[in-house]
Amino acid sequence: MSGRPKVMPVTTKLTLTEILPLTCSRSGTCCHGKTVRLNPWELACLAEAKGLTRRAFRDQFCDFGGIQLRFDGAPGWRQQPACSQYVPDLGCSVHSGRPLACRLYPLGRQRQGDELYYLYEGSEFPCLEGCPEVFDLPRSSVAAYIEAQDAKRFEVAQDEYLEVMQGLADSAFAFLLESGLAESGDRQTLRLWREMGGEGPEQLRDRLGPGWIDLLMIPELADGLHDPTAFSRHHHDLLLLKAQGSFGTLDTIADLRKASVVLMGLALHLGRGLGADPAELAERWIRIAKEHGALD
Ligand code: SF4
Repeated sequence: MSGRPKVMPVTTKLTLTEILPLTCSRSGTCCHGKTVRLNPWELACLAEAKGLTRRAFRDQFCDFGGIQLRFDGAPGWRQQPACSQYVPDLGCSVHSGRPLACRLYPLGRQRQGDELYYLYEGSEFPCLEGCPEVFDLPRSSVAAYIEAQDAKRFEVAQDEYLEVMQGLADSAFAFLLESGLAESGDRQTLRLWREMGGEGPEQLRDRLGPGWIDLLMIPELADGLHDPTAFSRHHHDLLLLKAQGSFGTLDTIADLRKASVVLMGLALHLGRGLGADPAELAERWIRIAKEHGALD
């Protein structure tokens, strides 16, 4: 072992007016060895671009019930596997429906309350590692790049699904705090919230089961790709409707706990698809529940 100090990754925040080598050489290096998370609207857009049903696209090309694009293509750049949608020498086979992560790359996007950041990880612009020829292409401002990628609807969808995630968590809170469950001295609910936060995506998918996972990721909504706000809000209604019909009369502690745990599990799984860390989300929500009287 050398005594070389570990270099911590840095995050560089960008202003919209910043001018960078934000131009794509279309060599496809960014379609290899990445993690591309999906929200349900993005999954629907990908399915449409591919000419498949949402279920068929999810089953053939996604992992963990649909929250992540599968990367099982032929190894390419640095022998890393290609995205399932990447066609060697041609590029992305779903370009018109590609998700926000692909539209923004190499930029990331983070919303904290009302503040919105564009950023990149690392001390050097990450795109240049795979495509140094980008230096010779025209430069662009962050704002112009986002515009050129037609990313607006996809940003709206991402923000709307953050609201859906919070709405599901709020319902889990309501079953815990407003039903008598917390007052009964129950400690199991927060234990299960924490357990789910620590589970891998496969485990949480299996815990929720195919009925809930299908409704979460491939809802039967006839249209709405042109309007991610309407799509996501209608989707949220469908999830709450199923919850109302699924947990019986909710007159036992066990029913109330089950309702709270399922809704929290859905919020955590959706949150992972939105790029959040479920363990951090669970701990944050457990802290809030305890501040309101729930027992850990
Ligand atoms: S969806 Fe298209 S752009 Fe995105 S990683 Fe896959 S092949 Fe590349």
